[in-house]
Amino acid sequence: MANTQFSSLPISPAQVANLDSLGYKKMTDIQAQALPHILNGKDLIAQAKTGSGKTAAFGIGLLNEINPRFFGAQALILCPTRELADQVGKEIRRLARSVSNIKLVLLCGGKPFGPQVGSLQHGAHIVVGTPGRIQDHLRKNTLKLDGLKTLVLDEADRMLDMGFSDVMKEIIAQTPKKRQTLLFSATYPDEIKKMCRSILRDPVTVTVESEHKPTTIEQLFYEIKRHERNNALLALFEHYQPESAIVFCHTKLQCDEVANFLRKQKIGALAIHGDLDQRERDQVLVRFANNSCPVLVATDVAARGLDIKSLQAVINYELPRDAEIYIHRIGRTGRAGEKGIALSLFTESEQLRVKAIEKQQNKPCICDVTASLDRDIEFTLQPPMVTIQLDGGRKDKIRPGDILGALTGDAGLAGDQIGKIDIFDRSSYVAIEQSALRQALNYLSQGKVKGRSVRARKIS
Ligand code: AMP
Repeated sequence: MANTQFSSLPISPAQVANLDSLGYKKMTDIQAQALPHILNGKDLIAQAKTGSGKTAAFGIGLLNEINPRFFGAQALILCPTRELADQVGKEIRRLARSVSNIKLVLLCGGKPFGPQVGSLQHGAHIVVGTPGRIQDHLRKNTLKLDGLKTLVLDEADRMLDMGFSDVMKEIIAQTPKKRQTLLFSATYPDEIKKMCRSILRDPVTVTVESEHKPTTIEQLFYEIKRHERNNALLALFEHYQPESAIVFCHTKLQCDEVANFLRKQKIGALAIHGDLDQRERDQVLVRFANNSCPVLVATDVAARGLDIKSLQAVINYELPRDAEIYIHRIGRTGRAGEKGIALSLFTESEQLRVKAIEKQQNKPCICDVTASLDRDIEFTLQPPMVTIQLDGGRKDKIRPGDILGALTGDAGLAGDQIGKIDIFDRSSYVAIEQSALRQALNYLSQGKVKGRSVRARKIS
């Protein structure tokens, strides 16, 4: 099986860190299959659909080749539609944060020509656009492709379906022969095969078997009065009833207050922010990952780099000032083709933040008021598991099997009453079904793990 760690690729540590901050923890299938070849300079034919992570596959590849000091077009990405070009441009801008001073221009039809010429005159390293408009720029000499290193044809089959075949040929003829060409297509009909033979050199072909569905995140915005925030948050839980969620706040104090408030309402929540020491942070994350805590209340900084499972809901207790941060936050739900929901509270004075998000996403935000929500006021959210901490860990040669063995053997628990086991240097954590907690603690207080007594306590 291919290595799925981004750090296994010959890319900069800054890019690995950037990917991590975007929540990209592992490569998707298409990335794991294609990136080693792309980074090796090979031409590529990839059969992959939107939602597979293909944009990052070619984006990471082309960024690796860019020389920021040369202000000519070094990468060209042809897309069939303006919407796709927009999407691709946004994703590549995010990926390009790891390299300073990279300029990307979008050249799509339906937009005024003049400003595009202006952007090109300032120098653009990456050009993303639709074939017709790129052809216009080439004909008017406002775009030159003689310094091009990477050519990407995204959704090549759709471009052919839309009748762009001749236009594409004309564009490709103006690129250097010595270039890398990456062709992405959801289908692989004869016409594409023919095209591949004429424009690719000794290409590698990769196909993604399992198709990832596009992520679907339903986004809803609720306008509230400042003093209504807590009650509105509760209304969201009572109406949407997510089984797991992350609530984003601005400040550490706010995180603590919101987590306390939720716990009082019988919604299991823990705060995570920069004031926690490493051990406390580990414990919060262990409990969240092992189903002992359904809700995390976090600052953006504390949530950065969290390797957490897909969440049913992301809730913005307050909207971030920066629309990009909003996009990062909501990307934590609806992963891997699952449906996710992103709920945001905002006050009148925060309306500008909603506008910025609309601009960023190029679509209107759906706004409502919490008074319109049906609330099940009986709603509680208690975790199925509880976490026991043992004061022995890796350095005491304790392994997960030792803990599992002790609990299912002498303590008499059933295997399915025991959840995730996490081993740290000097302590271990095991998730136990609530109903089996007494039995497990009774045994651990007297019995032994791997031949020695360990202190065990429930963490709460
Ligand atoms: P695409 O197929 O390029 O449209 O990508 C689909 C979605 O997957 C986009 O929202 C990307 O931000 C996201 N994505 C791409 N690569 C990864 C990754 N390695 N891990 C998590 N999400 C990813």
